[in-house]
Amino acid sequence: MKINIIGGGPAGMYFAILMKKADAGHDIIVYERNGPDDTFGWGVVFSGKTRANLRAADEESHAEITRNFAAWDNVDVVHRQDKISIHGNSFSGIERLQLLKILQRRCEELGIELRFRTEVTDLDSLRANCDLLVAADGVNSTARKQYADRFEPSLDVRPNRYIWYGTRQLFHGLTLTFRENDAGVFAAHSYKFNTNTSTFIIECDPQTWAAAGFASMSDDKTRQYLEKVFALDLAGQPLLSNNSKWINFLLVKNRTWFFENVVLLGDALHTAHFSIGSGTKLALEDAIALFDCFQKKQSVKPALEEFEATRKPVIEEYQAAAQDSMTWFENAGDYMHLSPIELAYSLMTRSGRVDREDLKRRDPEFIARYEEQTAAADTRTTG
Ligand SMILES: Cc1cc2nc3c(=O)[nH]c(=O)nc-3n(C[C@H](O)[C@H](O)[C@H](O)COP(=O)(O)OP(=O)(O)OC[C@H]3O[C@@H](n4cnc5c(N)ncnc54)[C@H](O)[C@@H]3O)c2cc1C
Repeated sequence: MKINIIGGGPAGMYFAILMKKADAGHDIIVYERNGPDDTFGWGVVFSGKTRANLRAADEESHAEITRNFAAWDNVDVVHRQDKISIHGNSFSGIERLQLLKILQRRCEELGIELRFRTEVTDLDSLRANCDLLVAADGVNSTARKQYADRFEPSLDVRPNRYIWYGTRQLFHGLTLTFRENDAGVFAAHSYKFNTNTSTFIIECDPQTWAAAGFASMSDDKTRQYLEKVFALDLAGQPLLSNNSKWINFLLVKNRTWFFENVVLLGDALHTAHFSIGSGTKLALEDAIALFDCFQKKQSVKPALEEFEATRKPVIEEYQAAAQDSMTWFENAGDYMHLSPIELAYSLMTRSGRVDREDLKRRDPEFIARYEEQTAAADTRTTG
């Protein structure tokens, strides 16, 4: 089969790897507008379950990826002067660039052609010239735009702003920190992804953003302002910018996932709020799901039909969980009156997929402490 793939991100490269590994006769080209060492952002995070899926799909890249992982089992919630740790959550972080380099090497090893610094603009001739065109071209997908009448996307620009920094301050766990100043509430999502760097994403609502005056603030001043907001947490370490800019989260859905021989994959197809840390996971698992459909159905149309029929419900469930999580962060200001342990409990149960019993299994000490403190507070109110 001749396969053209737009986008050398996790979704596009991983699908190429699985297809080529299964049949070396496939002729696969990945078109990527950036160079092999260009990237945005810092680290990405995976759950333990994703690691198992990667291992089953491709042992070679799994071994390389896990060799470079920073792993932890705690979520830390920082509110006022307290840090509450909740254990029993399996996560790992890896630098995005490192993940891309591992996948690039694996592509090259298997004989997949990676065409860097190649912007795809003429989609019609690219799709006419192959059996399958995979549009794994990210959240601002050109293919999704150009074939909008076929995919019928819905794009929802969310109100909160966020900015993705790095820092040398190490956060040993998925750390959610809340700080307030005169402008409003700022939330930071941070985690280390190697031995000397952490991702540090800062999010705030539009009122806070406007009150802080970011609209007319330079990049440097913005960074300095936020270093002050999180001074206690950064402990003197600066925020590191990678051309970091404020963005609004874009929630992407598509009514139709494919037409003729063109299919969307990864962020081009769907997004899920970064607070459940699943963009890269979903991109890689999409690639596995599409590959499985080709194993089962062999030819293009039935495979793409199977992909949409089987994968769509999984994604819809994820997006529903992510929606609840995103809504929680959009309304973070409403929770700031809670005590640190109440805030931690509210955060852990925000997506509705984890309840008290789950938390008790994961970290009985946390639940015991939560119950003790809420019972004491109840006694104070009623007594
Ligand atoms: C602030 C923030 C934090 C995040 N945190 C996490 C996290 O903790 N964990 C996690 O798993 N994920 C996280 N993500 C999400 C993650 O970065 C993406 O979800 C993931 O990279 C999606 O993979 P993809 O292959 O679908 O798309 P991408 O990685 O975006 O790859 C698409 C590729 O297509 C290329 N491209 C686009 N158009 C063209 C064209 N016309 N021609 C040629 N090439 C083109 C682009 O250059 C790009 O390399 C985060 C994202 C953000 C913004």
